[in-house]
Amino acid sequence: MYDVLIIGAGGAGLSAALEAKKEGAKIAVFCEGYPTRSQTSMAQGGINAALANVEEDSIAQHVEDTLKASGEIGSKKMILKMCEDAPKIIKWLESIGMPYSRTEDNKIAQRRLGGASSQRACYAQDFTGLKILHTLYDQCLKEGIEFLNEKFLLDLSVEENVIKGVTVLDIRSTEVEFYKAKTIIIATGGYSALYHGFTTNTNQSTGDGITAALNAGAKLSNMEFVQFHPTGLKKSGILISESARGAGGYLINQKGERFTDELAPRDQVSRAIYAQLKEGNEVFLDIRHFGEAFIDEHIPQERKLAITYEGVDPVTELIPIAPVAHYSMGGISVNENMMSSIDGLFAVGECAQSGVHGANRLGGNSLLEIVSFGRLAGLSASKYSQSVDYQDTEVSMYDIEEIYNTPNEINFYEKREELGKELYKNIGIVRDEKSLLSAQALILKMEKELEVMGLGDRSRVYNTNLTELIKFRNSIALSKIIVQGALDRKVSLGAHYREN
Ligand SMILES: Cc1cc2nc3c(=O)[nH]c(=O)nc-3n(C[C@H](O)[C@H](O)[C@H](O)COP(=O)(O)OP(=O)(O)OC[C@H]3O[C@@H](n4cnc5c(N)ncnc54)[C@H](O)[C@@H]3O)c2cc1C
Repeated sequence: MYDVLIIGAGGAGLSAALEAKKEGAKIAVFCEGYPTRSQTSMAQGGINAALANVEEDSIAQHVEDTLKASGEIGSKKMILKMCEDAPKIIKWLESIGMPYSRTEDNKIAQRRLGGASSQRACYAQDFTGLKILHTLYDQCLKEGIEFLNEKFLLDLSVEENVIKGVTVLDIRSTEVEFYKAKTIIIATGGYSALYHGFTTNTNQSTGDGITAALNAGAKLSNMEFVQFHPTGLKKSGILISESARGAGGYLINQKGERFTDELAPRDQVSRAIYAQLKEGNEVFLDIRHFGEAFIDEHIPQERKLAITYEGVDPVTELIPIAPVAHYSMGGISVNENMMSSIDGLFAVGECAQSGVHGANRLGGNSLLEIVSFGRLAGLSASKYSQSVDYQDTEVSMYDIEEIYNTPNEINFYEKREELGKELYKNIGIVRDEKSLLSAQALILKMEKELEVMGLGDRSRVYNTNLTELIKFRNSIALSKIIVQGALDRKVSLGAHYREN
C-alpha cells in the first residue's frame, strides 16, 4: 500500500515525487520506459520566469502575456500562482544542480520566445528539458525514491468516486499487476502523438493517463485545443526550437519574402505558414545571418537536427519547415491543488488541464508548469493521503486476454498512420464543420474496426506490439473527444481556428 503512487516520470512526475518524499509519504514512480527517456528531455527553448536578468520584466507582464496567449480563457488565479512561483522554481532547480547557460556577468541567461514581451526563458543551450529532467532524476536517486520502470498504465480502480489503486502491465513479463494506493498522481504527458507523422512528439504521447482517468469517470476539459508549432522539420516533424526565431531567425518563402511577425504567438505564425503552403509556396526558416559561432554556442542541437534529419546545414542553407502538432492544452480537469474530480486522484503536467494555458500555451510555460505544479501535486497528494482511512477494495484486473483473443484482421499500424493524417488534415491548424464531420466519421469507423484489430505478435515476453495496440485504442478514445469538442466550439479561439 502506497500513500502516493505517481504514474509518469517526466518533469511533472519527478517534481511531484521529490516533494511527496520530502513530506514523508511512502511513494513510488511508475513509467512505461525509463525516466530519462521521457518527453521532457526533448524540450529545447527554455523555462519562463520574470527574472529581468537581460531586460526589464515583471511577474505582472508574465501573467499578462500568458493570459493573452490563452485567448483570455486561462484562469487568472492559476496563472498568477504559477508566474509568482517561477523565480523560486528557477532558484530551486539551480540549487539541486541545474546547469543554466549564463550571461557575461554570470547571471542566468534568458531569451525571448514567441508571444513574450521580454527575454524571459531561462535555458541551458538548447538542451533545457534534458538538463531539467536529468537534474530532477539525479535528485530522486539521491533521495532513494523507488522507481518501477517498464510498467504500463492500464486502468484506475475507483469506488464511490474514491481512488483505490492502479492496474499496470509489466512490459517484460506481460503480467497484469494491481497496486493499492491512497492517492495517485497521473503525470503521463500529453496527446499530440495522435497526430502520428505530423508531430514533434514521440510515440509515448498518446494521452494514456487521460484515457485511464476518463474511463474511471474523471472530468476532462479543453481537449479540442492542440497547439501546432510553426517550425517542425518538413520531412520528419522534428522540432526546430522557437529560440531560433527568438534570436532573430526569419520565416521566408521560396521567393525570399518574409510574410509574418516571426515572434507572434504560435497559433498565428502557424496559420500564416499554413496560408503560404496552401498557396503552393514553400516555407523556410533562415538563420544563416547568425553565423556559425553563435549557432554552435546557443543552438547546437538545432544545427545537428537539421543536418541529420533534413540534410541541410543552417549555417549556409535554408531549413525547410512545416507546422506540426506540438502540445495539447486539454486534459484531466484539476482544482487549485491538482486534484481531479475523483477524490484522491491527482493529475499534473501536460496530461492535466490546470487552467494556465487556456486555448493556447505560451512557449516556456510548460516546463515551468511541470516543475511548479508538479511540486504542488506532490505536496497536495501527500497531505491528502494523511487524511485517508483506506478501506480495502476488490481488486479489479484489466482483461489482457481480451486483447490476445481479438482477431487480427486489420493492421492497426496502418490505421495509426491513417488516423494521424486525418487529424492533421481535418482537425488541424484550420478546421470547419465539414472537415470535422469527416474526421468524426472516420474515427467512429475505426472504433468499430477495433473489434478485429488484434496482435500480430502474441508472445508473452516484452511484447511492444501489445502496448502499441493499447495506445492505439486510447488514441481512438481521445480522438472522439477532441473532434466532439471541436464540433461543439463553434467559434475560433486560440489554437482552435474554425473557418465555418
Ligand atoms: C520537442 C519539444 C520541445 C519542447 N520545448 C519546450 C520548451 O522549450 N519549453 C517548454 O516550456 N515546453 C517545451 N515543450 C513542452 C514540454 O516539454 C512538455 O509539455 C513537458 O515536458 C511535459 O512534461 P510531463 O512531465 O507532463 O510529461 P512527459 O515528459 O511527456 O512524461 C510523461 C511520462 O509518462 C510516462 N507514460 C506515458 N504513458 C504511460 C503509460 N501508459 N504507462 C506508464 N507511463 C506512461 C512516460 O514514459 C513519461 O515518463 C516541448 C515539447 C517538445 C515535444
